[in-house]
Amino acid sequence: MKKEIVRKNGGGDMVFCVKSVAALTSVSLLVSTVVACGLPAVAADNNLRFDSQTRDIKALLRDGISLMRSNHNQEACDKLQQLVNLNPSSAEAQHSLGLVLAKLGRMTDAIAALKKAVELSPDSEASWLTLGGLYQANGNMEEALSTYQTFLDRFPDNRMKKKVEGLREALNSEKKESTSRADQERLLHGEAPAASPSDKLPAHSMVAPLAATFGQGGTDDYLSQVLPNGAVSRWDRRRIPITVFINEGVGISGYRDSFDQILKRSFEDWATASEGTIAFKYVNSPKEARLQCFWTEKVSNLANPAEAGDARIITDQDGICQGEIWLLTRPVSRTVPLTDNYFRLVCLHEIGHALGLSGHTTNPDDVMFFSATFKDSWRDLSGRDCRSIKRFYADR
Ligand SMILES: [Zn+2]
Repeated sequence: MKKEIVRKNGGGDMVFCVKSVAALTSVSLLVSTVVACGLPAVAADNNLRFDSQTRDIKALLRDGISLMRSNHNQEACDKLQQLVNLNPSSAEAQHSLGLVLAKLGRMTDAIAALKKAVELSPDSEASWLTLGGLYQANGNMEEALSTYQTFLDRFPDNRMKKKVEGLREALNSEKKESTSRADQERLLHGEAPAASPSDKLPAHSMVAPLAATFGQGGTDDYLSQVLPNGAVSRWDRRRIPITVFINEGVGISGYRDSFDQILKRSFEDWATASEGTIAFKYVNSPKEARLQCFWTEKVSNLANPAEAGDARIITDQDGICQGEIWLLTRPVSRTVPLTDNYFRLVCLHEIGHALGLSGHTTNPDDVMFFSATFKDSWRDLSGRDCRSIKRFYADR
């Protein structure tokens, strides 16, 4: 379901120009494709050598994958490392090891394992997808883009084609935004932009005074990175506490009670990080609420099928006046289950957008990083997240 985002402007409502709608509906968390590609099934693994070690190898692969699925990642890693030691030429073993290393947050090692996997088996669609996903989750935009391109070139008829094209598009627009932000910062500091000035000057002229203020100083936060050109919107002091209504989740496939608690905890953490300038108040009906939270089992309800959630805001002359947060209740694939840890990151990220942090960072440690990451551990707001929201609302 795509909602129209309108800017209420004194008199009548005015629909945002197409460009702004696109920019606002894209505020959500990109999920890399790796989550959508299945692990190699044990039965289908034909690469393993059928010698005296075969039984051990099969058991290690089966146990490793099963441990990973139940989120016992360190134990899974030990098994899969043994498997790779026994059978270093198995692309599937390298692939599985790479995935579990990513879940443990060891991204450099994970990428190395996947590079080996594609080298050993260049015809493996899943390995190329996972490698692209790992680059994306690690913030390596160029490598992610070129790996997705390799995938599209090699497997033009693959069923994941549309999804990968969507990811490529989203990454390209992230790249464009971060390049133009970097140029703006140079201009704000009186330096020449990196590329041809004639291309870049119009972007500078769009920097609104408010954005310019946030663009200066604050080297230990990321406000200059996440605020779009000239469109800085916050919740006005008179609208705080922000009234929140959380829709009923029971009956929606995949929904569980912990989601509601995690969502509320995430609201609380942003409020705490703001040091009192932001507060939320839960209300009993959508009518009383300025911010509504929805659960959905359908990816089609989100703006982009490559995303795990959406935040949509409506602004008027006083800033943000209404918002919606949409949260996906189903995992994107059975390989990477929708754990509480993962759901927590989506909640923090989408609330950040609903508070007006409309862009993304390129640092995987921030919850406002442009991509979902694989590390499956409980996330808190980073120091930069906290300092950014605090400064964003400091004069409220
Ligand atoms: Zn986002």
